Amino acid sequence: MSDEHRQMAYWSVVKDLEPAADIPLARLRAAMPEFFRFSGEPKRAGSVLFDCLAGIPWDWPAWETFAKKAGYDSLRTISLAIARMRPAEVLKARSLTQLRDLCTERSITHLSRATKQALIDALMKGASADVAAAIVFPFRQALHEEANEKCRAEMARHLAYRILSVAYNRERLDQLRDPELLSMMPFWKFHWCGHTDIDAPKSCRRFDGKRLEPQAAITTFPELPCSYLRCVCRLSADTARS
Ligand SMILES: [Zn+2]
Repeated sequence: MSDEHRQMAYWSVVKDLEPAADIPLARLRAAMPEFFRFSGEPKRAGSVLFDCLAGIPWDWPAWETFAKKAGYDSLRTISLAIARMRPAEVLKARSLTQLRDLCTERSITHLSRATKQALIDALMKGASADVAAAIVFPFRQALHEEANEKCRAEMARHLAYRILSVAYNRERLDQLRDPELLSMMPFWKFHWCGHTDIDAPKSCRRFDGKRLEPQAAITTFPELPCSYLRCVCRLSADTARS
């Protein structure tokens, strides 16, 4: 993979992160060599990005639609789900030790063998809605932060995947444009990888198996990877038109 393709792919993807004003470009630039050290391991490359963006409230707008289709959480759905949780549900999502500590903090006597439910009942006993909300507030925030971090780790993995895919496809086009190859195989064939179809007018599925001359292929086929974040559709050289 050429350095030029790598850099282009990297910036073409990370430029979409938001809030743009908070994204530290210098840090991203510094992380690039480490990122591409793991070109063959998108998971590890994703961790490099995740660590590089630690402490920044970043989001990836393209994630929202994809997450919905692929069954992942997004920062927005997490926010909604956690805001909707009742105080007792928030407590239930914490560990036994955390609940014990909270009881101690609030001078609520409890048996050392008390179950989670017994501790929750003790904590919520006689508490008005406002008081209950105040008691669980730090826990709600902790849940929110943990879920956000998990979601960002997932997004970082997909960002890595995406960057590597963009770079790979650039490289692939260069290979396919090789004059010697073109003289033997003057057509490009589109292979749909079977991903969920997207609502774009140029959906990959429609072009599966189609063969065109390079110039027509560039303008007709979807640009790869397509807007579906896990698109691994590809082009190959072919001897005949379809
Ligand atoms: Zn595709």
